[in-house]
Amino acid sequence: PAQQEDPDPKKKTLVVLGTGWGSVSLLKKLDTENYNVIVISPRNYFLFTPLLPSCTTGTIEHRSIMEPIRNFLRHKKAAVKYYEAEATKIDYEKKMVYIKDESEVKGNVSATEVPFDMLVVGVGAENATFGIPGVRENGCFLKEVPDAQKIRKRIMDCVETATFKDQSPEEIKRLLHMVVVGGGPTGVEFAGELQDFFEHDLRKWIPEIANNFHVTLVEALPSVLPSFSKNLIDYTEQTFKEETIEIRTKTMVKNVTEKYIEAEFTDASGKKQLEQIPYGLLVWATGNALRPVVKDLMSQIPAQKDSRRGLAVNEYLVVKGTENIWAVGDCAVANYAPTAQVAAQEGAFLARLFNQMAKTEQIELELAKLSDDQSKAPKEARDQIFNTMKDLQKRLRRVKQMGPFEYSHQGSLAYIGSEKAVADISWLTGNLATGGQLTYVFWRSAYLSMCFSSKCSSYEVKLVGG
Ligand code: FAD
Ligand code: NAD
Repeated sequence: PAQQEDPDPKKKTLVVLGTGWGSVSLLKKLDTENYNVIVISPRNYFLFTPLLPSCTTGTIEHRSIMEPIRNFLRHKKAAVKYYEAEATKIDYEKKMVYIKDESEVKGNVSATEVPFDMLVVGVGAENATFGIPGVRENGCFLKEVPDAQKIRKRIMDCVETATFKDQSPEEIKRLLHMVVVGGGPTGVEFAGELQDFFEHDLRKWIPEIANNFHVTLVEALPSVLPSFSKNLIDYTEQTFKEETIEIRTKTMVKNVTEKYIEAEFTDASGKKQLEQIPYGLLVWATGNALRPVVKDLMSQIPAQKDSRRGLAVNEYLVVKGTENIWAVGDCAVANYAPTAQVAAQEGAFLARLFNQMAKTEQIELELAKLSDDQSKAPKEARDQIFNTMKDLQKRLRRVKQMGPFEYSHQGSLAYIGSEKAVADISWLTGNLATGGQLTYVFWRSAYLSMCFSSKCSSYEVKLVGG
């Protein structure tokens, strides 16, 4: 196992921000012997996000989708340093990352700086709220393990409060109204899991709530799952209808208070109306927004001026306008959807790139040395040196031949409740859009097998829906 050591002055320092899909995939394939590798992230574990919605209802225990980063890193050939901290600022000119320990326990030092030669930004994204008032104060997000735990607690609290002595019928109805805002995959999967929880457990445990427990999915666009095929959207909407999950499309939430949301919708006559929708639990799943540290970095680089959704990168994932900063995953803009599948492939690409860069440097050093030797060597030895150099140059050309990043889409999978899933998968022979229980078996086995192998620190990202 690797030991913590002082940085080797002969090696470049590679700082990796984040322990999510992008960064961990990079670390997995990176030959850590070539660099002084430092990982900085406030989360000391990797999180298998596709199964997070299942944690909100206890179908899956959260520990089984977390992999401690220390356990992962100790299997690397050369030691990797890890600091549990947030990068608060990246100074591009000074090649410095400023970090802060935001955890509960703090030592005498809780903020410091880390210099880098090479930097990989894999900090993911924040939850988007579009500045809608009241969302942060009253809603629950679904991005991290504490979010799932909070939702789990809230569901039960709403149910117990609804059954409190002398509660009015109107208040019972409000408390048992579970509202999900955002009809993307996160919102759809959570709504499905929640309805399952009600059907499989809550209905049996507390029969008196059966008539009032109600899940509503609110979406601003005309349909849910806009990135899926039309027939899968129809299938999802039909399944939700059977599960009695109400879908409110073309309904845009504008304001959130402690007990109701205000949403704008267009009525039958085409007029815009504002409606108050009371809720007990509000889960907010309207996608991604930029993290402040990313926004700040973008403001330092003129070439990033027109980028809005994240760090614009070139085809080698280099942050445009820089030479020594790369970005992966949800914080990078490379014209792909912000999914685990993309982040993991980008991370693996960077590992190959960095491994090759190290090899190139090593060969170039050897060549420089040989060239020096050759000039000093006696005539009879020069031919042999010349031949060795020719071989090395051939190797160098081979090593340098690395094409740009190309994303290979393995398909999209989403769980929609009632043991059904939808899958948009491109096979060699064409596209397959499928939904139903068999797809669910596929969804579950694909994810569970990845999850279990991840526990052995050797997960493979073969099929992650996106
Ligand atoms: P993340 O995985 O979010 O990791 C970001 C890392 O950066 C974290 O470790 C975080 O702690 C760290 N960090 C944050 N701020 C800082 C900072 N200031 N300094 C240092 N580190 C920082 N995608 C799919 O393809 N298929 C799915 O089925 C799927 N299901 C999903 C289900 C849910 C509920 C959610 C929320 C997402 C799902 N996704 C899915 C999307 C997928 O999880 C993301 O696209 C993916 O996590 C992006 O990877 P990333 O490495 O960019 O960021
Ligand atoms: P998303 O961006 O895919 O969807 C958010 C939805 O919220 C949009 O449809 C948007 O129209 C809606 N919305 C925004 N503001 C609204 C408002 N004020 N009122 C009502 N609706 C509003 O977000 P997500 O579902 O969190 O997904 C984020 C990323 O993660 C996506 O790239 C997604 O593909 C990926 N993901 C994939 C899976 C999967 O493949 N199973 C699961 C979860 C997430």
